[in-house]
Amino acid sequence: MGSSMNVLDDELNIVVIGAGLGGLAVALALRTATSRHVITVLESAPALAEIGAGLQITPNAAKLLIRWGLGDQLQKVTTVPEQFTIYRYSNGEVLGKRDNYGAEMLAKYGAPFWDVHRADLQIAMYERAKNLGIKFRFSAQVESYDLATPKAILQGGEEVHADLIIAADGLWSRCRSSMLGYIASPTPTGDLAYRIVLNFDQVKDPEVLRFLSKPQVHLWAGPDCHAIYYPLRNNTMCNIVLLVPDNLPENVARAPGSIDEMKEIFRNWDPILQKLLSLVTDVDKWKLMHREEMDAWSNEHATVAFLGDSCHPMLPYMAQGANSSIEDGAALGVLLSKLSKKEDLASILQVYQDLRKPRSTAIAKSSEKQRYYNHLPDGAEQKVRDALMKSQIQEPQPGYPFYWIDPQMQSWVYGYDADLEAHTAWDKFLKDSKQKTLPGAQL
Ligand SMILES: Cc1cc2nc3c(=O)[nH]c(=O)nc-3n(C[C@H](O)[C@H](O)[C@H](O)COP(=O)(O)OP(=O)(O)OC[C@H]3O[C@@H](n4cnc5c(N)ncnc54)[C@H](O)[C@@H]3O)c2cc1C
Repeated sequence: MGSSMNVLDDELNIVVIGAGLGGLAVALALRTATSRHVITVLESAPALAEIGAGLQITPNAAKLLIRWGLGDQLQKVTTVPEQFTIYRYSNGEVLGKRDNYGAEMLAKYGAPFWDVHRADLQIAMYERAKNLGIKFRFSAQVESYDLATPKAILQGGEEVHADLIIAADGLWSRCRSSMLGYIASPTPTGDLAYRIVLNFDQVKDPEVLRFLSKPQVHLWAGPDCHAIYYPLRNNTMCNIVLLVPDNLPENVARAPGSIDEMKEIFRNWDPILQKLLSLVTDVDKWKLMHREEMDAWSNEHATVAFLGDSCHPMLPYMAQGANSSIEDGAALGVLLSKLSKKEDLASILQVYQDLRKPRSTAIAKSSEKQRYYNHLPDGAEQKVRDALMKSQIQEPQPGYPFYWIDPQMQSWVYGYDADLEAHTAWDKFLKDSKQKTLPGAQL
């Protein structure tokens, strides 16, 4: 790929950096919207491996995945939770609960709430993209960029030219450093995550088996920590995430964890959680890192656009990072399909940023607020939180401390349709531009 490949003015050579969920989403959205443009995805990993753990894919992203033709495949590997319950960590007290949660989400938002293994989702998206003609190159590690040209320079020196580079290279984005002109590493948040997956066939205890028999999301809120359980792969695999204060050395982002240390932290917690943790044979500790959102998601030459964690990472307390990357991909794909000449790119990328940035900033802020409610230490504020939740156990009201159940927050997050929003934003841009060019518009 020695030089730019565009032959027609309305056909671009688009190079996506990263086959994560955001990179795959933009490729799928763009190819679903138009057969124009050559799309190539460069991924540093040699192949898509069985890495990662569970993700909650909420209706705002599920509706997009279904539109891209992934509904049948994902139905086979996801789990829809029947119930969503929030527990006080120590005494099994139910603070909040929605029965028929999955059915309620489908009825309200027209798309499912899915619990899924990240690898299952990523591989399904990749297979679909490949079938749609997207080109992939693995073991293609981008070392540096010339964003004005633009080109990506791979390890080994090969230069990959493009009309547009889409940076979907995640939290540690090199493309971000290249655009900003300096290297700034993400900073620690003060928390770390233990991410655990167990197969149901590892479980023999009848009480735990009863617990597992109903697909459910189970969140335990405790002082400075929380734990969340949900099942994967058609209710055959447990996913447990434990969020606790970070005690990893400063420069270590991931390390093998001690099972004893993990159990000790949860010593006084719900016995069911302790039984689940007693099945763990090895576990990693992941330092949770964060960085500020980028001010600009494209450059002055309109030759690079950012999406997902590369430009707006968010803490995982609302489980919206991947969902948000998928929304970005959908919006950018739809907007790029509107291009009628290369000169439109600057406007398209501006409309993309204006549409997406306010929402991702707001979700990132709300995720920090969710951390506060999840980790309230025992005391006056925790008692107020719990009393409010218990008073609304039948009918949660706006302002409810857990967004999954807060009717207002939930509908703001899950009711969003990135496709529709992108079409509307472009139509508005065209209308506004036309008005500006009408005679007398400047008067
Ligand atoms: C504990 C935890 C739980 C979470 N739970 C949820 C959840 O339930 N729901 C949810 O929505 N989100 C969740 N998230 C967040 C989610 O995982 C991320 O926000 C999401 O994966 C970001 O997607 P992305 O495509 O932007 O980046 P990534 O998934 O990081 O993908 C980036 C890709 O780019 C590739 N790459 C990087 N650099 C280069 C390079 N130089 N050259 C070529 N390729 C490169 C990488 O190999 C990778 O494949 C969670 C995160 C954590 C830490």
